[in-house]
Amino acid sequence: MARLLLRELDFRWASVPVPERRAHLTALLQDLGHLPEEEGMEAALKMAERFLGTPFARILAASPSSALHRALPFGLELSSPGARGRVAVEGELDLLWETPEGEAWGVAYRPGKRHPLGPVAFAHELVVQGLAAKRLVKEGVPVRVGVAFLGEPSPEPEFLTLPGGLTEAAEPLEQAVRALAQSGMQDEWPSREAATCQALHCGFAEHCHPSPRAC
Ligand code: SF4
Repeated sequence: MARLLLRELDFRWASVPVPERRAHLTALLQDLGHLPEEEGMEAALKMAERFLGTPFARILAASPSSALHRALPFGLELSSPGARGRVAVEGELDLLWETPEGEAWGVAYRPGKRHPLGPVAFAHELVVQGLAAKRLVKEGVPVRVGVAFLGEPSPEPEFLTLPGGLTEAAEPLEQAVRALAQSGMQDEWPSREAATCQALHCGFAEHCHPSPRAC
Protein backbone atom coordinates (compact mmCIF):
# COMPACT_ATOMS: atom_id res chain seq x y z
CA MET A 1 0.00 0.00 0.00
CA ALA A 2 2.93 2.37 0.65
CA ARG A 3 4.06 1.76 -2.91
CA LEU A 4 0.57 2.42 -4.23
CA LEU A 5 0.36 5.66 -2.27
CA LEU A 6 3.69 6.83 -3.64
CA ARG A 7 2.66 5.92 -7.15
CA GLU A 8 -0.49 8.00 -6.90
CA LEU A 9 0.88 10.90 -4.93
CA ASP A 10 1.78 14.27 -6.41
CA PHE A 11 5.29 14.88 -5.04
CA ARG A 12 4.52 18.56 -4.54
CA TRP A 13 2.99 17.40 -1.25
CA ALA A 14 6.59 16.98 -0.04
CA SER A 15 6.78 20.73 0.46
CA VAL A 16 3.47 20.99 2.35
CA PRO A 17 3.29 21.12 6.21
CA VAL A 18 3.10 17.68 7.82
CA PRO A 19 -0.52 17.83 9.14
CA GLU A 20 -1.92 18.80 5.73
CA ARG A 21 0.23 16.19 4.09
CA ARG A 22 -1.13 13.52 6.44
CA ALA A 23 -4.70 14.58 5.69
CA HIS A 24 -4.05 14.29 1.96
CA LEU A 25 -2.37 10.89 2.30
CA THR A 26 -5.29 9.64 4.38
CA ALA A 27 -7.74 10.83 1.72
CA LEU A 28 -5.65 9.10 -0.94
CA LEU A 29 -5.64 5.90 1.08
CA GLN A 30 -9.42 6.05 1.27
CA ASP A 31 -9.63 6.62 -2.48
CA LEU A 32 -7.64 3.41 -2.81
CA GLY A 33 -10.30 1.62 -0.78
CA HIS A 34 -8.72 1.47 2.70
CA LEU A 35 -9.32 3.10 6.05
CA PRO A 36 -6.39 4.33 8.13
CA GLU A 37 -7.61 2.18 11.06
CA GLU A 38 -7.15 -1.03 9.08
CA GLU A 39 -4.25 -3.25 9.95
CA GLY A 40 -1.00 -2.10 8.37
CA MET A 41 -2.40 1.17 6.99
CA GLU A 42 -0.76 3.41 9.61
CA ALA A 43 2.59 1.83 8.72
CA ALA A 44 1.93 2.47 5.02
CA LEU A 45 1.04 6.11 5.70
CA LYS A 46 4.22 6.55 7.74
CA MET A 47 6.35 5.04 4.98
CA ALA A 48 4.90 7.44 2.42
CA GLU A 49 5.40 10.34 4.86
CA ARG A 50 9.00 9.37 5.51
CA PHE A 51 9.72 9.24 1.78
CA LEU A 52 8.13 12.66 1.33
CA GLY A 53 10.42 13.93 4.09
CA THR A 54 13.61 13.05 2.19
CA PRO A 55 15.71 15.63 0.33
CA PHE A 56 15.18 13.48 -2.78
CA ALA A 57 11.39 13.86 -2.58
CA ARG A 58 11.78 17.62 -2.19
CA ILE A 59 13.83 17.69 -5.40
CA LEU A 60 11.09 15.67 -7.12
CA ALA A 61 8.55 18.16 -5.81
CA ALA A 62 10.32 20.90 -7.75
CA SER A 63 10.37 18.87 -10.99
CA PRO A 64 7.74 19.27 -13.68
CA SER A 65 5.21 16.46 -13.61
CA SER A 66 6.12 15.63 -17.22
CA ALA A 67 9.56 14.50 -15.94
CA LEU A 68 8.08 12.04 -13.43
CA HIS A 69 6.76 8.69 -14.57
CA ARG A 70 5.20 6.23 -12.17
CA ALA A 71 4.12 2.58 -12.33
CA LEU A 72 5.49 2.00 -15.82
CA PRO A 73 4.90 -1.59 -16.94
CA PHE A 74 7.52 -3.11 -19.21
CA GLY A 75 8.41 -6.28 -21.06
CA LEU A 76 12.13 -6.68 -21.66
CA GLU A 77 13.54 -9.02 -24.27
CA LEU A 78 16.93 -10.31 -23.12
CA SER A 79 17.86 -12.62 -25.95
CA SER A 80 21.23 -11.84 -27.47
CA PRO A 81 21.70 -12.29 -31.25
CA GLY A 82 22.10 -15.93 -32.16
CA ALA A 83 20.78 -17.22 -28.81
CA ARG A 84 18.62 -20.34 -28.87
CA GLY A 85 15.08 -19.44 -27.87
CA ARG A 86 13.83 -16.13 -26.59
CA VAL A 87 13.80 -15.03 -22.97
CA ALA A 88 12.11 -11.97 -21.60
CA VAL A 89 11.14 -10.55 -18.23
CA GLU A 90 8.19 -8.40 -17.28
CA GLY A 91 7.96 -5.87 -14.53
CA GLU A 92 7.02 -2.41 -13.49
CA LEU A 93 9.05 0.68 -12.69
CA ASP A 94 7.82 2.37 -9.53
CA LEU A 95 9.37 5.71 -10.46
CA LEU A 96 11.37 6.99 -13.40
CA TRP A 97 12.62 10.57 -13.15
CA GLU A 98 14.09 12.50 -16.04
CA THR A 99 16.52 14.79 -14.25
CA PRO A 100 17.23 18.40 -15.32
CA GLU A 101 20.79 17.24 -16.09
CA GLY A 102 19.51 14.93 -18.82
CA GLU A 103 19.75 11.64 -16.92
CA ALA A 104 17.05 9.10 -16.09
CA TRP A 105 16.86 7.78 -12.52
CA GLY A 106 14.76 4.76 -11.67
CA VAL A 107 13.74 4.12 -8.07
CA ALA A 108 12.16 0.94 -6.72
CA TYR A 109 10.22 1.23 -3.45
CA ARG A 110 10.86 -1.44 -0.85
CA PRO A 111 8.59 -1.46 2.21
CA GLY A 112 11.11 -2.92 4.66
CA LYS A 113 14.26 -1.88 6.45
CA ARG A 114 17.48 -1.49 4.53
CA HIS A 115 19.00 -4.76 3.36
CA PRO A 116 22.56 -5.06 4.79
CA LEU A 117 23.90 -5.03 1.25
CA GLY A 118 21.78 -2.10 0.17
CA PRO A 119 20.90 -2.00 -3.55
CA VAL A 120 23.40 -4.77 -4.32
CA ALA A 121 20.92 -7.24 -2.83
CA PHE A 122 18.52 -6.30 -5.64
CA ALA A 123 21.15 -6.12 -8.37
CA HIS A 124 19.39 -8.41 -10.88
CA GLU A 125 16.07 -6.69 -10.43
CA LEU A 126 17.65 -3.25 -10.72
CA VAL A 127 19.59 -4.23 -13.83
CA VAL A 128 16.31 -5.39 -15.40
CA GLN A 129 14.70 -2.07 -14.46
CA GLY A 130 17.69 -0.11 -15.72
CA LEU A 131 17.69 -1.91 -19.08
CA ALA A 132 13.94 -1.37 -19.37
CA ALA A 133 14.40 2.32 -18.55
CA LYS A 134 17.12 2.62 -21.19
CA ARG A 135 14.63 1.52 -23.81
CA LEU A 136 12.08 4.04 -22.61
CA VAL A 137 14.33 7.09 -22.80
CA LYS A 138 16.24 8.57 -25.71
CA GLU A 139 19.37 6.78 -26.82
CA GLY A 140 22.47 7.89 -24.96
CA VAL A 141 20.64 9.14 -21.86
CA PRO A 142 22.55 7.90 -18.77
CA VAL A 143 20.37 5.70 -16.57
CA ARG A 144 20.77 5.05 -12.83
CA VAL A 145 18.67 2.70 -10.78
CA GLY A 146 18.29 2.42 -7.04
CA VAL A 147 16.13 1.44 -4.10
CA ALA A 148 14.29 3.42 -1.44
CA PHE A 149 13.95 1.35 1.75
CA LEU A 150 10.70 2.77 3.05
CA GLY A 151 11.10 1.17 6.48
CA GLU A 152 14.09 3.41 7.23
CA PRO A 153 13.72 6.70 9.12
CA SER A 154 14.90 8.59 6.03
CA PRO A 155 14.40 6.41 2.93
CA GLU A 156 16.68 8.37 0.64
CA PRO A 157 17.23 6.21 -2.48
CA GLU A 158 20.52 4.35 -2.79
CA PHE A 159 21.75 3.76 -6.30
CA LEU A 160 23.42 0.69 -7.73
CA THR A 161 26.99 1.04 -8.93
CA LEU A 162 27.81 -1.11 -11.94
CA PRO A 163 31.48 -0.87 -12.91
CA GLY A 164 30.78 -2.18 -16.42
CA GLY A 165 27.49 -0.34 -16.83
CA LEU A 166 24.06 -1.72 -17.60
CA THR A 167 24.96 -3.03 -21.04
CA GLU A 168 27.69 -5.26 -19.62
CA ALA A 169 25.29 -6.59 -16.99
CA ALA A 170 22.78 -7.70 -19.63
CA GLU A 171 24.54 -10.91 -20.64
CA PRO A 172 24.93 -12.46 -17.15
CA LEU A 173 21.34 -11.45 -16.51
CA GLU A 174 20.19 -13.26 -19.65
CA GLN A 175 22.08 -16.37 -18.54
CA ALA A 176 20.54 -16.22 -15.08
CA VAL A 177 17.03 -15.82 -16.53
CA ARG A 178 17.63 -18.72 -18.92
CA ALA A 179 18.79 -20.91 -16.03
CA LEU A 180 15.74 -19.95 -14.02
CA ALA A 181 13.37 -20.59 -16.93
CA GLN A 182 15.06 -23.94 -17.59
CA SER A 183 14.78 -25.04 -13.97
CA GLY A 184 11.11 -24.00 -14.00
CA MET A 185 10.44 -26.15 -17.07
CA GLN A 186 12.20 -29.09 -15.43
CA ASP A 187 10.39 -28.39 -12.17
CA GLU A 188 13.58 -28.22 -10.16
CA TRP A 189 15.67 -25.42 -8.71
CA PRO A 190 19.29 -26.38 -8.14
CA SER A 191 19.72 -23.23 -6.00
CA ARG A 192 22.66 -20.89 -6.07
CA GLU A 193 25.92 -21.55 -4.31
CA ALA A 194 25.52 -21.38 -0.51
CA ALA A 195 28.20 -18.68 -0.23
CA THR A 196 26.28 -16.41 -2.62
CA CYS A 197 23.05 -16.99 -0.72
CA GLN A 198 24.76 -16.15 2.57
CA ALA A 199 26.30 -13.02 1.09
CA LEU A 200 22.83 -11.95 -0.05
CA HIS A 201 21.41 -12.61 3.45
CA CYS A 202 18.60 -14.40 1.65
CA GLY A 203 15.71 -15.37 3.90
CA PHE A 204 15.21 -18.64 2.01
CA ALA A 205 18.68 -19.98 2.82
CA GLU A 206 17.30 -22.64 5.15
CA HIS A 207 14.88 -23.77 2.45
CA CYS A 208 17.47 -24.01 -0.34
CA HIS A 209 20.39 -25.16 1.81
CA PRO A 210 18.84 -26.97 4.78
CA SER A 211 21.12 -27.73 7.72
CA PRO A 212 22.04 -31.42 8.10
CA ARG A 213 19.56 -33.29 10.29
CA ALA A 214 20.75 -33.90 13.85
CA CYS A 215 20.05 -37.63 13.52
S1 SF4 B 1 18.79 -19.16 -0.66
FE1 SF4 B 1 17.60 -19.93 -2.40
S2 SF4 B 1 16.23 -18.26 -2.96
FE2 SF4 B 1 17.84 -17.39 -1.69
S3 SF4 B 1 19.39 -16.68 -3.12
FE3 SF4 B 1 19.96 -18.73 -2.53
S4 SF4 B 1 19.06 -20.03 -4.09
FE4 SF4 B 1 18.03 -18.04 -4.26
